[in-house]
Amino acid sequence: MHQQQMAHLKIDHIDFAYENGQTVFNDFSLDVQPGEFVALLGPSGCGKSTLLNLLSGFLQPQRGSIRVNANSVRPEMRELGYVFQSPQLFPWLNALDNVGFGLRMRADVGAVEREEKARNALALVGLADVANRLPHQLSGGMQQRISLARTLAMEPTLLLMDEPFAALDAISRQNMNEELLRLWSSLKQTVVFITHDIDEAVFLADRVVVLGKAPLGVQRTLPIALPRPRNHRDTRRLPQFHEYSSSLMDTISAPPTSHASPAQIAVPALAASHSSLLFESTL
Ligand code: ADP
Repeated sequence: MHQQQMAHLKIDHIDFAYENGQTVFNDFSLDVQPGEFVALLGPSGCGKSTLLNLLSGFLQPQRGSIRVNANSVRPEMRELGYVFQSPQLFPWLNALDNVGFGLRMRADVGAVEREEKARNALALVGLADVANRLPHQLSGGMQQRISLARTLAMEPTLLLMDEPFAALDAISRQNMNEELLRLWSSLKQTVVFITHDIDEAVFLADRVVVLGKAPLGVQRTLPIALPRPRNHRDTRRLPQFHEYSSSLMDTISAPPTSHASPAQIAVPALAASHSSLLFESTL
């Protein structure tokens, strides 16, 4: 995959309400640095799907801006790549053709280059040897890898991932988490990863952003200072992993508040071992 400029995502003071008057975002901002991995965590109804539609340019905010490297987001923007909860593969196309499918829309990519890119992407996710298999001949985890490969073949610099592993069993999910981190560390994309799962968010992210029920916006931002590379076996043994998880659990189970005054809150258990760790919060 060739070198491209890393993506800087800047959501700047957006307001968004649906036509029926349902306000989802009110002065919402989020800055995701080039190459950063941000996990968005929040209850159902907090606006995650709406945010993804805004990030991909399918919806427009009534106020404020959403930019990638200073350009306003548009659905056809090359920088953007999506991975959804369900793999959404074509059942009649084999793995290789499914991976190459998105590239068919690219006029600048001919058939030979398309196949080469698709083969490279399949190899990246460790599935070079199942190129000729149909989706029903593959496990759920393999299908989701193919979906990831299809997105990676387009060489996006900003990956938008909407609970991509939620439908997988626990072991496949852990494998996919590790696989994703391995790919991310070599491809250097900027990632926005939506999940309901606190442990998954802590394991993956550089920063976890907790969203409150709409239109509450960002309830808390928690930088995750766990060492990388991470694997489930070692990372889950670290006391800090559990401290981050239980601290996020406390935030999510606390009664919602609509006060939006920025504050710096130290969590005692963590502050004791990491005095430099301060959690930015808008609680
Ligand atoms: P999530 O994905 O986190 O569950 P959504 O983005 O789907 O949240 O929804 C956020 C809020 O906007 C909810 O209160 C939901 O009822 C409302 N909403 C979602 N889609 C629409 C729509 N098309 N029209 C009106 N309200 C909507």
